Amino acid sequence: MKRIIVVGNGMVGYKFCEKLRKQGVAAEVIVYGEEPRPAYDRVHLSSFFSGKTAEDLLMAPASWYEEHHIVLHTGELVTEIDRQQKTITTHTGKTDRYDYLVLATGSSPFVPNVKGVERDGVFVYRTIEDLNQIIDYGKKVSRAAVLGGGLLGLEAGKALVDLGLETHIVEFAPRLMPRQLDEQGSVILQHKLSQLGIVVHLNKSTKEIAGNGKLDGLEFVDGSFLPIEMLVISAGIRPRDEVAKGCGLEVHPRGGVVVNDFLQTNDENIFAIGEVAVHSNMVYGLVAPGYEMADIVVRQIAGDFSKTFQGFDMSTKLKLMGVDVGSFGDALGETPGCIPIAFQDKHNGVYKRINISADGKHLLGGILVGDAKQYNLFHQMAANKMPLPAQPESLIIGAPGKGEEGAGVKNLPDSAQICACENITKGDLVFQITEKGVKTLDDLKRSTKACTGCGGCTPMVNDILKITLESLGHTVKKSICEHFDYTRQELYDIVKIKNIKTYDALLDSHGKGDGCEVCKPLVASVLASVWNELIVSQATIQDTNDRFLANIQRGGTYSVVPRIAGGEITPQKLMAIGRIAEKYGLYTKITGGQRIDMFGARVDQLPEIWEELIDEGFESGHAYGKALRTIKSCVGSTWCRYGVQDSVSFAIFIEDRYKGLRAPHKLKGAVSGCIRECAEAQSKDFGIIATEKGWNLYVCGNGGSRPQHAKLLVTDVDTDTCVKLVDRFLMFYIRTADPLTRTATWLNKMEGGLEYLRDVIVNDSLGIGEALEKEMAELIANYACEWKKVVEDPALRAQFKHFINEDSTDSTLSFVEMRGQKCPPDWNKK
Ligand SMILES: Cc1cc2nc3c(=O)[nH]c(=O)nc-3n(C[C@H](O)[C@H](O)[C@H](O)COP(=O)(O)OP(=O)(O)OC[C@H]3O[C@@H](n4cnc5c(N)ncnc54)[C@H](O)[C@@H]3O)c2cc1C
Ligand code: SF4
Ligand code: SF4
Repeated sequence: MKRIIVVGNGMVGYKFCEKLRKQGVAAEVIVYGEEPRPAYDRVHLSSFFSGKTAEDLLMAPASWYEEHHIVLHTGELVTEIDRQQKTITTHTGKTDRYDYLVLATGSSPFVPNVKGVERDGVFVYRTIEDLNQIIDYGKKVSRAAVLGGGLLGLEAGKALVDLGLETHIVEFAPRLMPRQLDEQGSVILQHKLSQLGIVVHLNKSTKEIAGNGKLDGLEFVDGSFLPIEMLVISAGIRPRDEVAKGCGLEVHPRGGVVVNDFLQTNDENIFAIGEVAVHSNMVYGLVAPGYEMADIVVRQIAGDFSKTFQGFDMSTKLKLMGVDVGSFGDALGETPGCIPIAFQDKHNGVYKRINISADGKHLLGGILVGDAKQYNLFHQMAANKMPLPAQPESLIIGAPGKGEEGAGVKNLPDSAQICACENITKGDLVFQITEKGVKTLDDLKRSTKACTGCGGCTPMVNDILKITLESLGHTVKKSICEHFDYTRQELYDIVKIKNIKTYDALLDSHGKGDGCEVCKPLVASVLASVWNELIVSQATIQDTNDRFLANIQRGGTYSVVPRIAGGEITPQKLMAIGRIAEKYGLYTKITGGQRIDMFGARVDQLPEIWEELIDEGFESGHAYGKALRTIKSCVGSTWCRYGVQDSVSFAIFIEDRYKGLRAPHKLKGAVSGCIRECAEAQSKDFGIIATEKGWNLYVCGNGGSRPQHAKLLVTDVDTDTCVKLVDRFLMFYIRTADPLTRTATWLNKMEGGLEYLRDVIVNDSLGIGEALEKEMAELIANYACEWKKVVEDPALRAQFKHFINEDSTDSTLSFVEMRGQKCPPDWNKK
């Protein structure tokens, strides 16, 4: 039996052992690791600061090695390799013989040769021991800095903040994460970090780590000085190639053991994998390429030489709580002819950039800062060269249909790699679900190991699980995301019954983890539905549209839509709109909902524009929210000679009644004055049509991409009954629909369909009619115009700035003229 020695028991060394045993390779395996414990999850090292123990972080307990007949020597440093004798020697003098040697010695932090690095209070950030030392020392000091503003430096910075220290990040380059971000991305990231309390110093070359025994500050080449008591160095990595060098293996001039496509060194019996290996002049400081290397070596030892290492995509996602950063593919747009499209919202710290191929067909790469929920999808779109939508910018400023659950993953091919760490494709996941009967995320993780590396693919794996189970006809519990094991309906009841008023309180009491871009806006919408409170007071958890109480449009400007109930407007108000639009240079257009949309406003102009509109008697039209939009009406009996009822008055009454109502999706209504139906009430969520005897009420209609006629709920009811039934209907929908589900889809999925709905609403079969009416009455009583509150509150008003701590406006906006008004330019004609 062959004897394999693995030198280094880090993440990649461990993965090699795991894969070897999984493949059933019959070989003796002996592992030597320098650290005092078995391999642990270095990627999630920082979770040590949020309560994870060394034990929690282990890749596998010590017993796993025994069970798999692997001899593990911890605390044993390999100091020598004798390639002639095929033996190794450790620092304790132990020698051992191998047939194959696998070097998985990883890397160590690079410590620059700056005067004073040996001082007390200077640390690196790589091992559990490092962290223990940082924690101990951190108790004695109050000001600290990290040298290095790269991926790991930022993680270390956040750790120092968590230790309660005043934290500085010092970076030599003119921007943060210089390998992953461009200038604008770095600026936004810097603002985000400042919100966490981290002060960033760019363009700083350190001359000396000053002090007397222990450090007391950093002296820079430009003459400035930063007083600090503790320093964490995170200035890059250096492969641990010392034993390799000592035995004459080829090492790269910049460090690292040189390997070929088979991960062989210049000694065919010695392989190097993980961060110690240099392949085509590249060291990969990420775990996924290391795992791929481990896989290729295992295959070879098992006799399969078909797979070789061909380099690896360096896409990465930072995992700092509250600071989403993703960088994928050709992030900096270095491909000749590529077209960058960028969107930035400096106030909320969001920057998104996508680089499109010169022919406009594919996504090459991009950068996401502040909101990286599309990272996995974009990464896959780029990797699989998926066709782009007609308006590629819609990818970053809100894709049409973005509400559809898992919409993105549905279109991915089976070959799309979902989990890069474990090289799991969509097809692998679907196979487990369709062929092996896997039904839960935990089981899918166990059977494929997806999500167990960096964990970034979890939302996508979850989406694939849901849509595949649904395609098999299973009813899937619509847990909203991995942070809340509840449906929207359940969360609604929890919020109401337990009187929960904030996202954090809900997460603490009923969720887990830190939350994500799915649950945050959803909970904000539930809170707004239940309490009808100002949605901007939940600003940190909002969609961009809700954050600024305006719809973001192509080109990055916002639109302003005042309410014009029932489509009725006086000449004075019409003139006011004209005057204001002219003053701010806004493009105006009549909408399908019978009101006037003003486009092209900068975020900092929104409060001023609204102040003027409110002075003229207007209110928010909630065109930006998952809320009641418009009640369209025909002129009805007031003017029309066919009209049998006053449809305008009823429409205005209804619109005023439900204005501001937050719901799982947008809501639209209409009132027609006779059966000729000029207001198209049967295409609305609720539509009312006048009859000789009263009103017919239709529900659950839908225009949009999949039109559906509304269904007749009751006929010939009087006005009061009609209003009562609409109250019940809307409240029942708000309470029970899944997130982002229009009324039509809600009804389509409802067991018992229209008959059941009619029973509940009209016949009160559940005995909840009165309760629904009462809840609606409370919401109506709590209504207040959101924009009026913002305009009158200086603190809220201050949020509508492009930049939180300065007054500059968005310099990226540009316009062209069209038919006498301004419009954003076409991205591909720039
Ligand atoms: C804080 C932090 C956050 C990170 N976040 C991410 C992330 O989000 N995503 C990502 O992909 N990557 C991340 N990484 C990088 C990732 O952890 C590494 O790519 C991965 O651990 C490399 O695995 P490895 O086995 O090659 O090296 P290592 O994990 O360094 O393991 C090598 C082991 O070999 C031991 N060793 C060295 N020489 C000898 C010897 N002569 N004899 C015996 N033992 C020896 C070392 O002590 C060490 O235990 C992060 C790293 C850190 C420190
Ligand atoms: S139909 Fe609606 S979503 Fe589509 S382009 Fe027109 S306004 Fe935009
Ligand atoms: S629906 Fe009837 S009342 Fe209304 S405008 Fe048309 S014809 Fe006239």
